[in-house]
Amino acid sequence: FVDIRHAQKSYGSLEVLKDISLKVNRGEIVAIIGPSGSGKSTLLRAINDLDPLTGGEVWLEDVQVNKTLPHRQYEKHINHVRQNIGMVFQHFNLFPHLNVRENITLAPRMLKGLTVDEANTLAEEQLDKVGMLERIDYYPSQLSGGQKQRVAIARALAMKPKVMLFDEATSALDPELVEEVNLVMKKLAEEHMTMIIVTHEMGFAESVCDRVLFMDQGVVVEEGPPSVIFRNPENERTKNFLRKHL
Ligand code: ATP
Ligand code: MG
Repeated sequence: FVDIRHAQKSYGSLEVLKDISLKVNRGEIVAIIGPSGSGKSTLLRAINDLDPLTGGEVWLEDVQVNKTLPHRQYEKHINHVRQNIGMVFQHFNLFPHLNVRENITLAPRMLKGLTVDEANTLAEEQLDKVGMLERIDYYPSQLSGGQKQRVAIARALAMKPKVMLFDEATSALDPELVEEVNLVMKKLAEEHMTMIIVTHEMGFAESVCDRVLFMDQGVVVEEGPPSVIFRNPENERTKNFLRKHL
């Protein structure tokens, strides 16, 4: 479904992804853990070509995401591909000058040609799902961090993506706000949304994910079901990391 083949990424002489291959099945939930600087965000951002790879391929279903195309064709191609990939970052990337409703309806109207009514219905559905319907007329500055993050998730979901990518969606939040965002992600998991989740929260990864990848220095050191990675890792680097983070 998502198929990363021999991903390689360098910044000058610094190699941050070293021949990483990863297949994620439809409906599968994969956590990526690892120390700061290990390449987790770079790998995630390569999936929608925000951080283009210097080698290797990324496929979503039968479409190669990181195709080499003449500029205009590439723009068209990547805009289309990105509609299928929802992404939620650590720092809330809502448009500050738009209210919640406008934040959510903008892309469906502009990119998918939905009418105002259709987009509104969609926004209300998605906001209801994340428990934010009553804040539909609020501006981002009037929301808590957890609420902003739930709106960001609703906005991504409104595009009906095939896969959702989360890059430390809760790590900028006050501890008491983490759970409300985690609950939304758990709900998506129950609905079998395909998700790739970069996280520092081992408990969350263990309870929600089907598979865990431990990355260090640009390679996947070890991967397996959470029961194995968290309870019985084989690799010394994994053990060391978990000693510090469990
Ligand atoms: P963290 O847990 O801190 O978010 P990470 O695993 O997400 O870390 P990345 O952000 O993927 O790590 O970064 C991997 C490496 O690539 C780091 O050494 C970083 O300094 C380097 N890097 C990232 N972006 C750039 C860039 N634009 N130019 C040069 N080096 C970069
Ligand atoms: Mg990161």
